[in-house]
Amino acid sequence: MTQAKCPVCGCEQFYVKDPDDEFEVYEFECREGDVCFDEAADSGQCPEIDESTEIFCNACAWHDRFEKIK
Ligand SMILES: [Zn+2]
Repeated sequence: MTQAKCPVCGCEQFYVKDPDDEFEVYEFECREGDVCFDEAADSGQCPEIDESTEIFCNACAWHDRFEKIK
């Protein structure tokens, strides 16, 4: 099982910002290339993540496109 890690700090938790509300964030992990949102998140509200979506590390200041961690 491969789990995506932050290239800077190795953290496996990331988040994306809600495109409609930058103060709303959704945490997720990336397992085997699949995005797994935090169970607390309402799946109906989770934003789509594609290769070019900007994602943020949960533990440090790294952020880049989703394709960089796949
Ligand atoms: Zn990091």
